[in-house]
Amino acid sequence: MSMIGDARGERSLPVTEEHLAEPRQVPELEGQRMLLHAAERLLDGVDRALTSLDDGTYGTCDVCGDVLDDQDLEGDPLLTRCVAHRPART
Ligand SMILES: [Zn+2]
Repeated sequence: MSMIGDARGERSLPVTEEHLAEPRQVPELEGQRMLLHAAERLLDGVDRALTSLDDGTYGTCDVCGDVLDDQDLEGDPLLTRCVAHRPART
């Protein structure tokens, strides 16, 4: 028993390693992940908008094919759905 205790004591000496093992102790990492996800979503939207420009479907609803409102597109150029098929914004 005492040998196990000693071994654990030695392993807990390097504090930095413990921090790396537990991401929850590094809040900045969470923030960076959220930023990364937001950037990925944006890139994905831009990519889809560019593709729809290529195939001539830009500005139409993904679901019903209706032409989107110009004012809506001005507000969000990456819009891919009409009002009826758009998920409510939070
Ligand atoms: Zn629609």
